[in-house]
Amino acid sequence: MTNLATTHTIDPHLYIDEDEPVLLSSPGEVNQPEVESAVAHLLQHIGEDPGREGLLNTPNRVARMYGELTAGYQVDAQKLINDAIFHVDYDEMVVVKDIDFYSLCEHHMLPFCGKAHVAYIPNGKVVGLSKIPRIVEMFARRLQIQEQMTSQIANFIDETLTPQGVAVVVEGAHMCAMMRGVKKSNTRMTTSKMLGEFRRNDKTRAEFMAHLASRSID
Ligand code: ZN
Repeated sequence: MTNLATTHTIDPHLYIDEDEPVLLSSPGEVNQPEVESAVAHLLQHIGEDPGREGLLNTPNRVARMYGELTAGYQVDAQKLINDAIFHVDYDEMVVVKDIDFYSLCEHHMLPFCGKAHVAYIPNGKVVGLSKIPRIVEMFARRLQIQEQMTSQIANFIDETLTPQGVAVVVEGAHMCAMMRGVKKSNTRMTTSKMLGEFRRNDKTRAEFMAHLASRSID
């Protein structure tokens, strides 16, 4: 059971331990020479000159960039949270909102980015607060579709913590919609996944939604 008075809202940016190694910034297992040659090929076939000065290092840069942007495939999910699960007697809603994420849509390989909001109601286990943004990042740094990313975050927390409920809401702006076709520059998509108490209980869900409607205090 939860009530508004004892619910905790957390700004994730305050809780990321700067001394922790950033698991996700190292390049993933990209086959550098193959990607470089594919990018050079692409440049040539969109009518560019891969040999001109400005493009000389582009294939190399793009290949390294893909290592970074798809590093989520290489993250060991269990290692990510292993040392950060705590057994506690705490069963109020934990809300971590406004988590910035950057992903690539799997249909066009163009960026989509925005905010993810995560809540869960513990059932004897909690995860360290800095881990929630990292879980989001692990699933964002892949080729994705927003609906799937939303479900993966919720399911991962559900399987890892077996909480009373999990809620994930993702708001994303998609470059493939903004740059192409109708060019509606303010196109945003909201997706959500509700499990357990958040799915069953209207009041719990409403409490979470009220958190999202209110802005961070500082
Ligand atoms: Zn797309």
